[in-house]
Amino acid sequence: MNETRVLLANIDEPDLHTLAVYERLGGYAAMRKALLQMTPEEVLHELEESGLRGRGGAGFAMGKKASFIPKGSMDKYLCCNADESEPGAFKDRLLMQKNPHLLIEGCIIGGLAAGANKGFIFIRGEYSLQADILDEAVREAGQAGYLGESILGSEYSFDLVVHRGQGAYICGEETGLLDALEGKRGNPRLKPPFPANQGLYQGPTLINNVETLCNAPLIIEHGAEWFRKFGEGNSTGTKIVSVSGNVQRPGNYEIELGVKVREVIYGLAGGPPEGRELKCFFPGGSSAPVLTAEHLDLPFTYEAMAEAGSMLGTASVIVVDDSQPLVPLALRLAEFYRHESCGKCVPCREGTNWTVKTLERIDRGEGTPMDLDILEQVQGNIIGNCLCVLGDSMAMPVASMLKRFRPEFERHMEEARDRADREAFSAPELAA
Ligand code: SF4
Repeated sequence: MNETRVLLANIDEPDLHTLAVYERLGGYAAMRKALLQMTPEEVLHELEESGLRGRGGAGFAMGKKASFIPKGSMDKYLCCNADESEPGAFKDRLLMQKNPHLLIEGCIIGGLAAGANKGFIFIRGEYSLQADILDEAVREAGQAGYLGESILGSEYSFDLVVHRGQGAYICGEETGLLDALEGKRGNPRLKPPFPANQGLYQGPTLINNVETLCNAPLIIEHGAEWFRKFGEGNSTGTKIVSVSGNVQRPGNYEIELGVKVREVIYGLAGGPPEGRELKCFFPGGSSAPVLTAEHLDLPFTYEAMAEAGSMLGTASVIVVDDSQPLVPLALRLAEFYRHESCGKCVPCREGTNWTVKTLERIDRGEGTPMDLDILEQVQGNIIGNCLCVLGDSMAMPVASMLKRFRPEFERHMEEARDRADREAFSAPELAA
């Protein structure tokens, strides 16, 4: 199977990160069109018509989100969520590193649609190389007159700042990101009010993911109808899929939404290593419930993944083959979310901790069958009961592993218990 490269069409071009090369390949033409030939309302309409859904996880329609921004003369903001922290996701890193001007152009177009004159790219602290590249690209764009006052002589002014986060997963949650950007500890806020009404510095704020904004120039340049030709149903366009885990060719692949999952995992990424079988896969990053081989022939769309009991999320496919035991995997995942929990609400703060402790007991051979029921119950108490999605991000995949692979959890527990017993009886003091 071949990729459908639209966003990544020029990604291998040497020095694409420079303004000269980006412009030589047609860069900033969409911004010119939006600023000089279209009204902001027409730009917004085109984005809405395209059906482009957020590529950062939630899948909310970008144009609709922008349309929620109230009209009026108050200060409005555009925030690009570049805090790509979901385990398994590495697509935004590629876009920012290789094609930073595409993102900047997308921010200008997104800002125009939302009526925002100030934009921020909130990039995770670990992406220092990409932040440096973006800083330089912003400088170049400013020097060329594509940022700042009256861009290209139009009435639109837009400033863009690259802000480095400090390495907390929770700052990828949109309101945690806003708090961090304001200089506070990155804690999620209670919603409503939603950021579109009361976001950064209490002003209306449009928050979009890197890949989402990178689609905006293509939609403006070629039109919403062109964009809708890619994809299936309400999953329009192409999507960059980060494939990792037990596959022969891990990497970023751009696909048309709607191709079969099998084509992504086997056709593009080569499937599990020789002699191994697929046990399960996370279709949308580590927070997506796992699916199994029976789901391989489903179309890779937001709808099909949801109907199968999971989600497309960031489209970061993590493949697990039959050599991987699931209890240590679930434990590792739970440890990550426990560490990243901000501790603000009880189900997440306590639930992630209980999950880790229970899984540790099972893995050490100290578990009892009741522990599996407790584990299931704790996940049920977390899902849907947290202030933000972090709690669910741990509980949903852990619950799905337990549901789909309970016999493996039971076997692991018994084998670990037998092993612990044998070790206890062969301890030197007993052997003597
Ligand atoms: Fe914090 Fe977790 Fe509650 Fe989110 S779900 S607010 S990360 S404690």
